[in-house]
Amino acid sequence: MTEPTRRPATPLHTVVDRADPSGARFDRVDPSSALFDRALGAYLGLALGDALGATVEFMTPREIAHDFAARGGVHREIVGGGWLKLAPGQVTDDTTMSLALGDALLSGHAQRRPFDTGLIADAFVAWWRGKPVDCGNTCRRGIVRYLRDGSLQGPMADGDGGNGALMRNLPTALATLGDDEAFERVSLAQARITHHHPLSDAAVIGIGHLLRAQLNGVDADTMAQHTRAWAAANPAFRFEPYPGRASAYVVDTVQTVLHSFTQHKRFEDAVVFAVNRGEDADTTGALVGMLAGARCGARALPPRWLVRLQPQTLRAVTDQVGALLALSTPLTPASTAPP
Ligand code: MN
Ligand code: MN
Repeated sequence: MTEPTRRPATPLHTVVDRADPSGARFDRVDPSSALFDRALGAYLGLALGDALGATVEFMTPREIAHDFAARGGVHREIVGGGWLKLAPGQVTDDTTMSLALGDALLSGHAQRRPFDTGLIADAFVAWWRGKPVDCGNTCRRGIVRYLRDGSLQGPMADGDGGNGALMRNLPTALATLGDDEAFERVSLAQARITHHHPLSDAAVIGIGHLLRAQLNGVDADTMAQHTRAWAAANPAFRFEPYPGRASAYVVDTVQTVLHSFTQHKRFEDAVVFAVNRGEDADTTGALVGMLAGARCGARALPPRWLVRLQPQTLRAVTDQVGALLALSTPLTPASTAPP
């Protein structure tokens, strides 16, 4: 985490309803701005979806309906547990790898080595050595390869089509908002440290552009147009009619995420739909939470979920949003153009 202890514990109300831009770290980004609210909504939404979905990760929809029969057959409360035996509100690799990437982007600027891919790889190594609660096989393989030979990407590999690079790319979108070229370059560089596959690349760029449009505050019709246009241009990811799989294969993940996001206008409904598809539920939940959180903003996130998030997660996410947005170039009309 970036200096996580320098700021006092942030009471929840100042996170979700921050009116006083007193934090020195946010001096270039007004925390009461709509952009800050959408960016914080995206990052907290990612963490909330991760924490909610982890309870049912690797279950089938039928198993979820059975286990939650007493609650109408639907899992919709952040209670921890799952195969990782999490504490309520504990997040997993989706959120902690994002935070590691965000830290690397911030320390790169602090060291005058902006967007240095080696620093990102080092941050993934440090994250892995910190014994994260989970780590996907492809991520582990890529980190071990970097440790062995120092290479920042492996050869293109059929086995690299998982969602592990996609799930952690939010900090790149925040740090490069307003700069399309930097967004694509840094996204692919961070992705290929562990995942080198054309479908992973396409999802990282495509979902990233959709997120950036949502962060820039486009209206619902424009967002729907962007989403449809991207799926039409990338037919492997077509999500209507919804094929119904939610595995860690990046195609299944993206289809579940975009179907949930477009069919459910309320944040909670979108995330609940996705995680109840089971399979890689924490990751689909995280990615829907990210897009839907950018759409509704942090102030509209469900309070009963927010109070469940662990305080250190809330603080790290809030700190990163302000600091990463401060790295981005000022928004220009061109940056709100369709992806
Ligand atoms: Mn996870
Ligand atoms: Mn997962």
